[in-house]
Amino acid sequence: MPVNKVNTDTNVLSEDVFSYMDQKFYDLVQELTKPDVDNEDEDEDEVKLLISQSIKKWCNVNKESLGLVELDLEESEHYTVYLVNNKKDFITCKCNEQISLFKFRRKFQLSNLYRHYRASKCSMLNQMKKSEKEQKNDRVLAAIAASLSPTDARDLLLSSTKNSNGLNVPNTPATSSITQSSNATTTNKRRTNTEARSDLEPQLRKKKKKRTYFVFIIVFSVFIFDFYDTETIADFYCLRVYMKIFL
Ligand SMILES: [Zn+2]
Repeated sequence: MPVNKVNTDTNVLSEDVFSYMDQKFYDLVQELTKPDVDNEDEDEDEVKLLISQSIKKWCNVNKESLGLVELDLEESEHYTVYLVNNKKDFITCKCNEQISLFKFRRKFQLSNLYRHYRASKCSMLNQMKKSEKEQKNDRVLAAIAASLSPTDARDLLLSSTKNSNGLNVPNTPATSSITQSSNATTTNKRRTNTEARSDLEPQLRKKKKKRTYFVFIIVFSVFIFDFYDTETIADFYCLRVYMKIFL
């Protein structure tokens, strides 16, 4: 009896395939090995629409586990579907990765694509995460800056541009941009301020500590000057104060 060899992608097999017995296993084999004759009468646009809907649904369910607040992948913008024929259909991700498509029970299975997104090697998703984090930091910074005086807000914005691990803001902060951001976040101001203070707490604590140190040096300098009436000692501590302030 001639044997027709059929190559089948094992990704189509369910996790409990080894528990299949008798008729259930036979049905599965028959399904996997039957000729693909259903593609010829399928409309390409309709197939792409079904794939797009599946991806959107998956994004909505899995965005949180991927570390994103928003994830809405669109065809052409984030990926492109190429329907060549039954065995060579594929999707290209925006990161240039090419992912094979396969069918099971007349439906395209997208597990290879989802595996690509989950593997943390997709530069497109990594860029999305980075952008989302930067936008969040900008909102936090604008909220905290709105609660400070214009001078302190400017100092905070300038210092944040020097912090490579933290907040990311434009290099030319202006009062008008702070005002715009303030208006944009008015409705959620209380909640955002709480979040902002939490994120910026180490930075503000450091600044406060520095100010306390300055005050201590000044008071101590005056005390030494009055007590010993020695210009040399006073000059020495005043010099340290000036160095701390201006250098
Ligand atoms: Zn990718």
